[in-house]
Amino acid sequence: MGKVLVTGAGGFIGGHLVKSLIATGHNVRAIDIKPLNEWFQVENSAENLISDMRDTHSSAKSCDGIETVYNLASDMGGMGFIENHKAECMVSVLINTNLLEAARKSKVERYFYSSSACVYNGTKQQYSNVTALKESDAYPADPEDGYGWEKLFSERMCRHFREDYGIHTRIARFHNVYGPNGTFYGGREKAPAAICRKIALAKKSGHHEIEVWGDGEQTRSFMYIDDCLTGIDMILKGEYIDPINLGSSELVSVNRLVEIVESIAGIKVKRNHDLTAPQGVRGRNSDNSTILSEFGWEPSISLQTGLESTYKWIYDHIDEVD
Ligand code: NAD
Repeated sequence: MGKVLVTGAGGFIGGHLVKSLIATGHNVRAIDIKPLNEWFQVENSAENLISDMRDTHSSAKSCDGIETVYNLASDMGGMGFIENHKAECMVSVLINTNLLEAARKSKVERYFYSSSACVYNGTKQQYSNVTALKESDAYPADPEDGYGWEKLFSERMCRHFREDYGIHTRIARFHNVYGPNGTFYGGREKAPAAICRKIALAKKSGHHEIEVWGDGEQTRSFMYIDDCLTGIDMILKGEYIDPINLGSSELVSVNRLVEIVESIAGIKVKRNHDLTAPQGVRGRNSDNSTILSEFGWEPSISLQTGLESTYKWIYDHIDEVD
């Protein structure tokens, strides 16, 4: 097995991916822009490097001697971040562009790109009881402003590097990934982590009241990290070349998400709905017919099961919150 590169290795998904690659005997170069003491997980047997993939020279060096690239590096966060930092989100285009160029020059064999359900056309996501999104729903293009445009452009960049230079690019459109060892405070956290944090704080303080963004009737599907890792591995090794959904098809409202976390925490909270807070699209779900027909598999870990370990990890780390 040749050496693999994971960018964004200090982040949530990258940290879990490095851990699983090391556990399966891979030789891993792990790169993130953050200082090592801010990485969620550090594997000592990986080659851990602090480097900025927006920089052409650094990204060129990152691919030296690499057989497979997993590009998970991105300046991103939940709705609270991406609605208010569109330029920062779009600058991540430099990361994927530089890495594809570097991969081409270093004759990398396979290249995985982590795209997002934010590429989907907004007009198909206007109702809570949304029809699940199939891959073709990304066009005609009307993605999430900023972040979604960057992802859609980068997907096409992967496609053209594959067509023109023969790099085996593989692209997954992640739908809301959650689990332990990820961001749960500070402004970049996503709904599952934010709800777990709020309920854990309510439990610890005895003040059983939380703020919920929007009326709570907006819907999403949430994929547990273990399913995400299984899917990445299949897609990377498989022969399916177009962008493919990697998400759960268990559609829930944010109010239902709160109920599940309440039951895990063993408390009931009063919900104060902030109707002016960022909410993103009204409804979004993953149509899994392509992944099922191509791989005979789809993410299946239930939200209840995944939230149990996520809530516990956040509860155990809640003292980090100011
Ligand atoms: P994350 O923010 O936890 O991890 C991303 C990491 O990239 C961070 O540690 C960050 O420091 C690093 N990074 C940012 N800019 C960099 C740069 N210039 N050079 C090197 N490293 C840099 O996010 P995540 O949840 O682990 O997401 C990983 C990937 O999956 C991202 O591309 C994200 O857009 C995509 N994605 C995630 C989700 C999700 O629900 N978590 C959904 C859709 C897509």
